[in-house]
Order: sequence, then structure tokens, then C-alpha cells
Amino acid sequence: MTTTPYPTVRLHISGEWRASGSGASAPVVNPATEEVIGAVPLATTADLDDALTAADHGFRIWRGTPVAERTAILHRAADLITERAPEIGRVMTLEQGKPVKEATGEAIRTADTLRWHVEDARRAYGRTIPAPPGTLLSVRREPVGPVAAFVPWNFPVGGPNRKISAALAAGCSMIIKASEETPATAAALVACYADAGLPPGVLNLVFGEPAAVSAHLIASPVTRLVAFTGSVPVGKLLAAQAGTVMKPTLMELGGHAPVIVCADADPVRAAGRAARAKFLNAGQVCTSPSRFLVHESHYEDFTAAFVKAAEEVVVGDGADGTTTMGPLANDRRLAAAERLTADAVRRGATVRTGGLRPDRAGYFFPPTVLTDVPDDAQILAEEPFAPLAPIRPFRDLDDALAVANSLPFGLAAYGFTESAATAAKLSAELEAGILSINHCGGSVHEAPSGGVKESGYGREGGPEALDAYLVTKRVSHQLE
Ligand code: NAD
Repeated sequence: MTTTPYPTVRLHISGEWRASGSGASAPVVNPATEEVIGAVPLATTADLDDALTAADHGFRIWRGTPVAERTAILHRAADLITERAPEIGRVMTLEQGKPVKEATGEAIRTADTLRWHVEDARRAYGRTIPAPPGTLLSVRREPVGPVAAFVPWNFPVGGPNRKISAALAAGCSMIIKASEETPATAAALVACYADAGLPPGVLNLVFGEPAAVSAHLIASPVTRLVAFTGSVPVGKLLAAQAGTVMKPTLMELGGHAPVIVCADADPVRAAGRAARAKFLNAGQVCTSPSRFLVHESHYEDFTAAFVKAAEEVVVGDGADGTTTMGPLANDRRLAAAERLTADAVRRGATVRTGGLRPDRAGYFFPPTVLTDVPDDAQILAEEPFAPLAPIRPFRDLDDALAVANSLPFGLAAYGFTESAATAAKLSAELEAGILSINHCGGSVHEAPSGGVKESGYGREGGPEALDAYLVTKRVSHQLE
């Protein structure tokens, strides 16, 4: 196991790295050891005002920078992310816990996401519309302006970069408040942009008391768009705040993804693929499969294969190269895993594997498979965001669809079937923004991701990603 020193984390405002104006900071904890490994500076109101001034100024510079020049800077940033991916991965593992291979892979993929958005932004064309003689009628697509972005801790580099890359490619500036729990990874990402030659003020990084920072940035007239990834309750709060000042929002919120394993599916193959996705990042993924509805004819085969896959997961410190699942990222997720498991068991569920926190330091919780989970168990209504897999049988596909669609969320959904007709039915009837048939693959930058219902609105990835960061302006020009 390699030990990486934890860097000194600073705010990045107007192209400069600096401490908090008040010197205030909060500890950063390694979730694999529960040891304090560093500190995160907490921005003051004056720091936030500096960031707003910088973002305002940065926007004026950046929107006037020729696309070819913007593109060259952003491609350099992508190259730096690729070059620094191993170091970014090591730091991410220290503060978030995921296996170092997974962390490095996240950094490498995020560089590709940036490249994809940059290329797409080169083709953010407007259009010219046939009009009466003497009139030019056209549509321009312009960057919306300075963006206030708020991102969580589960994808410490991929999460911030989905917002930064699309916004900057579109010509916006940004103040991003990354998670106080994974600040060094966000700072390492922002350093790649800064070192690539981004003009001062285009990208500003702050940390602080989340509610105070978001309230201040959202209320400021400088901010033109609010982009948030996180929980449904916080998303509702920020959308309401933005509503009072009529600001558009991009909301990437939680879900509670159903997996329907149909009568004509291969249960062993389905279990293998679903289990791989379930235990990725210890289940702390907004699209993590989290409610398993299995046709009664496959219930035992699916469960046995899923339990086998769960027991093959190697739980440990993510810095150890043999680990395939690290600890939970914070004590809140550990407490939630314990609470949801205990509640399900109290109501009659059976623990088929896992279920108990190991006797060691760190926020570890084992891959856990629960069967006979009654409908009123909290875990069937509340997103676990932990390595918990509740499995429940069904007889009739329409009943399974009704259960799958019964929650107020609609982010990801999964179906396993060998029938094209059943696949078409699942595709049409599952209420989700992201649907995968016969696999549980993750997000790709070429295609849009986002939710329906309380899982939010707006899309990240795909050509749709730029839509949030661009405004449409109609220009009619009378020539005579
Ligand atoms: P939380 O609701 O306390 O916070 C979620 C994120 O929002 C954190 O990064 C936090 O710093 C930030 N936040 C909280 N209040 C804020 C505010 N007023 N203004 C701006 N940012 C604010 O939840 P948590 O304990 O960090 O995570 C638990 C739940 O959050 C999970 O169960 C999951 O549903 C959800 N979550 C979703 C995603 C996602 O990718 N959609 C990511 C992380 C967490």
C-alpha cells in the first residue's frame, strides 16, 4: 500500500490559490481509518463576494475568447487531467475511500468527458430562418453567464467536471462549491484548468458551510444559473431559493433504481451484472441498482448468484491494490446502512450475506443481500446509497412495473429480459431518465443522463448537456 501525503487545500479565486479570509477550516477525514488527514478552508462572505466579482469578470473575458482559443485551453486541461490521473486517484482514495484503480479510472474518464464537451461546443450552432425580403431572422445560442455549481462527494472528480466541462465549453464562467469531504480532489481538478492557461476568474473553487454558501451565491445578481448534484431535499431547497430570484436550475438528484429480472431472463447473468454495479463505489452512486424485483421462477437462482458475487467482493482500504470495495465515504452513510438493515430485519427480512459492520476502524459496511423484504421496509422507499441489495419476488410483470414506478423518484432503471417485446414494454413503461436493458452500465458522456419526477430535471452528457448552459436569442434584423 502506498501512502500519499495529503495536500494543503486552498480556495481558487480569480486565478489565485488562497486560504479562507478568516482562516476558518474544517477537518478532512480518511474514511478507511477515521483519521484526520488534512483541512478544508471555509470561505467567508467576503471570499464569496470576491469569487462573484471574479466570475463576473471572467465571464466577460471568456465569452469574448475565440472558440479556437477556448478549445485549445480546454484540450490542454484535459491532457493535464490525463497526465495527473494517478495522483488525482491516490488523493481521491484518501479522502473518499474508493479503490485507487476505480478513482484513477474516474479521473481518466473525466478527461474524455471534457474533450467530448469541448468538441460539441464547437458545433453549438444557431440557425437562420427564411424570412420576408429585407429581413434577417436568426437564432443565436449564447452562454447563459456565471454559474453557481454545487457538487457532492461520491464522484470527487467526475462530478465537478461534468459541470465545469460543459459550462466552460459553452463559454460560461463558474463558481463551484465542491464537497468539503473531498476537497483536495476538486482542487487538483481545478489546478488542471488553471495550469492549462484559463483566464483568471473563469473557474473559481470555494468550500464553506453549504447552506450559507449556496444562499449567498444564488441570491447574487451575478449568478445566472444554479447547477446542483445531490440529494432530493437539498435540490428542492436550492430550486426554491433560485425560484425567488427567477434563476434557471439544473438538478441532478437522487433516485432508487429498480432492477426488474423478467421470467425470460438469464438470472445468473443478470445477478453478476447487477451485483457489479451494486457494489461499485460501495453503492454510493445516484444510479446504483437498489431495488431488485425478480420473477418468482428465478428468485432463488438470482439470489444465490447475487450472494456469491457479493461474497467475492474484497472489502478494504481503497489504497490497497487488492481492494474491490472501500469503506463508505462518511459516518452518515454508515449510520444509514446500519439503520436500513436493522429496520428491514425488524420487519421480517432475512440477511443472506453481510449485514454487520466489521470490528475495525473506518466506515466499512459489507456487501449485504436482504430477501423476504416486506413492502413497508424503509429500504424499499429510501435510497440506500450504501452496498445494500433488497431482493423481492414478483409473479406478474405489470405488478413489478407498478412497484418500480411507485416511488416519487425516476433516475435510473434496469431490466433483464431475452424478449424484444418485453424489452420494448420495459422501455416504454419504466419511469426513469436513464434506462438500461440487460446491463447496469454507468453514465457515458456521449449520451444524456438525468431524472424525471423528483430525481430532477435537465441533462448532463450528450449534446443536451450544453442546453442548460446556453440561452437562445432570437435576432430579427430589418435591412431596409
Ligand atoms: P446531503 O443532502 O446532506 O448533501 C448532499 C450534498 O449537498 C453534499 O455535497 C452537501 O455538501 C450538499 N449540500 C447540503 N446542503 C446544501 C445546501 N443548503 N446548499 C448547497 N449544498 C448543500 O446528503 P449527504 O449525507 O451528503 O448524502 C446523502 C444523500 O444525498 C444520499 O442518500 C443521496 O440520496 C444523495 N446524494 C446524491 C448524489 C447524486 O449523485 N445525485 C450524490 C451524493 C449524495
